[in-house]
Amino acid sequence: MQNNGWDEFEIGAMLRSFDGEVKDIATTPQEDRNYSSNNSFTASVADWRIEKPIFNKDYCIDCQFCWIYCPDISIISRDKKMIGIDMDHCKGCGICVEVCPTNPKSLLMFPEQADEEAELAGWPEKDKGEK
Ligand code: SF4
Ligand code: SF4
Repeated sequence: MQNNGWDEFEIGAMLRSFDGEVKDIATTPQEDRNYSSNNSFTASVADWRIEKPIFNKDYCIDCQFCWIYCPDISIISRDKKMIGIDMDHCKGCGICVEVCPTNPKSLLMFPEQADEEAELAGWPEKDKGEK
């Protein structure tokens, strides 16, 4: 199918989110869904970010707050376990970091160019002033 820009569709055009038959979509992981080329899932917004979240699984308690609050459905959770971030669709808003309740936080924001391994190695210690 041809890839059109948002302003190239005719007025009244019907855009389908999926190609073919759709079954049990709520229980189908995003990477296994048959999104159509018109669906925004097929577009990456990674280059919109100036900061990115980095996930440190050592402190995560799988509370799922980040998954609930992310406005871009970019937290990847399987079987109620936080497993990572969809960096093609994360816009770097930082909301997941704000809502993460652990001490130290299990998600922190860094410049887009930051090296993940280096940042994980220098992760902040527990703040003793907090519970
Ligand atoms: S930075 Fe924003 S868009 Fe990215 S994963 Fe966190 S809440 Fe979602
Ligand atoms: S909000 Fe923090 S502790 Fe909760 S699942 Fe997300 S990363 Fe883990």
